[in-house]
Amino acid sequence: MITHSRRPTFSEPHPYPGRLIIVEGIDGSGKSTQLQLLNKWLVNSGYRVFFTEWNSSALVKETIRRGKKRNLLTPTTFSILHATDFADRLVHLIVPPLKAGMIVLADRYVYTAFSRDVVRGVHPAWVRNLYEFAVKPDLALYFKVPIEVSLKRILNGRINLKFHEAGMDLGLSDNPSESFKLFQNRILEEYDKISKEYDLTVIDGTATIHRQQELLRKMTKEMLQDFRPMPYLQKKENIYVR
Ligand code: ADP
Repeated sequence: MITHSRRPTFSEPHPYPGRLIIVEGIDGSGKSTQLQLLNKWLVNSGYRVFFTEWNSSALVKETIRRGKKRNLLTPTTFSILHATDFADRLVHLIVPPLKAGMIVLADRYVYTAFSRDVVRGVHPAWVRNLYEFAVKPDLALYFKVPIEVSLKRILNGRINLKFHEAGMDLGLSDNPSESFKLFQNRILEEYDKISKEYDLTVIDGTATIHRQQELLRKMTKEMLQDFRPMPYLQKKENIYVR
C-alpha cells in the first residue's frame, strides 16, 4: 500500500534519485535557449530527461488568462493562482520523474514568483512562505543581462511587447518600451536579492551562446558526479514500496 509520507520542504535537499535543474532570468536573458541545448545534450548522452515550463498547467491556465485579459486579479490572487498552478505541476509533472530517477529541467521556477509577485506588491516573506512546499533544485542558474540587451533580443523580429510582458498592468508608463524597462529593472533588483539569498549560480547572459553552454555542461557534469538514477524506494514498516 502506498501511503502519504511527509513531503520534503523547500529548505531541505530532496530525497529523490532524480535531479532538478532550473533556470531563471528576465525575458530575453537567453535561459530557454540554454536549457534547450542542455536538454539535447543530456538526451544524446543517454539520460532520461523531462522538461517543464512555468505556468503551463491546465488547472488554472484559463482563469489566469481571463483574469489577465480583464485585469481582474489583485497581486495576492495572482500570486495564489500561480502557486496553485505550480503545486499542480509539482505533484503531477515534477516529482514523478524525480522519483523515477530522471533529470527534470524547469524553465523558470519559484524564484520567478518571488521576483514578479514582490514587484507587483506582495510581501517577500509571504510569497516565500507560500512556496515552502516546492522541491529544492540541485542546480539553480540565474541568467543575468542588462535590460537593454533583453529588450533588443525580444524586439528582434517582433514589433510589439505584450501587455503583461511590459508590466503595463502596473501603470508605470503608457509607453510599452519604457514600461518594460521600468518593470524589468524592478524584477532585476529582486533577482539580485534572490540570487544572493538562495545562492543561485549567476551566468553572464551577455556571453556567447556557445560559451554559456560550455559552462552549463561543465556545471551539470559536476552536479551529476554522484548521480545513480535508481527509482525512488520509500521505506515503510521494513517493506519498500514505490
Ligand atoms: P528567454 O528564455 O530568457 O526569454 P530566449 O532563450 O528565448 O530568452 O532568447 C531570446 C532571444 O535571444 C532569442 O532570439 C535567442 O536566439 C537570443 N539569444 C539567446 N541567447 C543569446 C546570446 N547569448 N547572445 C545573443 N542572442 C541570444
